[in-house]
Amino acid sequence: MNLEILPVSDLKPAIEDENNLAFGKSFTDRMFVMEFDRAKGWHSARIQPYAPFTLDPAAMVLHYSQEIFEGLKAFRREDGSIALFRPADNVARFNQSARRMCMPEVDEKFFLDSMLELIRMEERWVPKAEGTSLYIRPTMIATEPMLGVRPADQYLCYVILCPVGAYYKGGIAPVKIWISDHFVRAAEGGTGEAKTGGNYAASLYAAREASLKGYDQVLWLDAKEKKYVEEVGSMNMLFHYDDKIVTSPLKGTVLDGITRRSALKLLSEMGYQIEERALTVDEVMEGAQNGRLKEAFGTGTAVVISPVGSFCYQDECVQLGNGEPGELTMKLYNQLTAIQYGRQPDPHNWITTL
Ligand code: PMP
Repeated sequence: MNLEILPVSDLKPAIEDENNLAFGKSFTDRMFVMEFDRAKGWHSARIQPYAPFTLDPAAMVLHYSQEIFEGLKAFRREDGSIALFRPADNVARFNQSARRMCMPEVDEKFFLDSMLELIRMEERWVPKAEGTSLYIRPTMIATEPMLGVRPADQYLCYVILCPVGAYYKGGIAPVKIWISDHFVRAAEGGTGEAKTGGNYAASLYAAREASLKGYDQVLWLDAKEKKYVEEVGSMNMLFHYDDKIVTSPLKGTVLDGITRRSALKLLSEMGYQIEERALTVDEVMEGAQNGRLKEAFGTGTAVVISPVGSFCYQDECVQLGNGEPGELTMKLYNQLTAIQYGRQPDPHNWITTL
């Protein structure tokens, strides 16, 4: 397939203050778009001006939520080059989500190359200030106008970009986590491991309740027994428990996080034994009190690593550490960000530079 490059007029004004970029609110001048229908397959791939779409009110995505997305970042390095962290993994996961949602897969090489070309063209939008990045959002939606529950015959796939500020401006702050014993995010056999909008829509109610109660995030338990900890908002959870690293196994309810994967690799290289097993909420609550749970942190593209300061479950809250991020949490955060920003070698070939 050819990638057509359409002209752009009226470029937006450059970023005024890189240290004050809100997450996900301003977008660059261009976007990548391609279209699918059953007869032609994927076609009309282009880089075009960033602009609203015209969608039929009956477009199936608006009724039955056939939608998937991804999230990754491009980093500006000290030498001026631009680096992406494991972008092929995001494209592979995009296709996994597509399969689960009965959507057409993309050609991974073509899609990745087009994404890299878009970023090259939008180079001026990759901020330079410490901790900033360009957030990349690949998306696919069902556009066929049809009322009726079945996989659509027409789709739109696009990639938009937004420059984002440093997640941690005033240093890394541990978060307060609410463990919900009522709401659930994903059940076995459901869509939890797909990055599809419905999972996030379904999480809003509990997240709002948590926020009203003064918590930062919801930690989801398994849907069946409400006994095992799974993941948090848009992060996987890792626990430094006894001398091991424990994290929920990937059994269909948890997103196969790319930061999780990378963190487990680095931690195993530091000498930690990794246990991908179901950890009970009791182990977490008691472990925080008896010292067996030393540190806990979330992993995800947006935050990289987010340390947990306290867990609250039913009527009880337990504190972890002394209000500062733990030693291992910081070590891992520093290693991962050093690889991303090129301050440290990349022995795993995780980085694609432009
Ligand atoms: N879980 C969920 C539900 C998420 O949305 C994300 C963010 N993509 C993650 C975990 C972390 O995944 P990653 O490290 O690939 O960003």
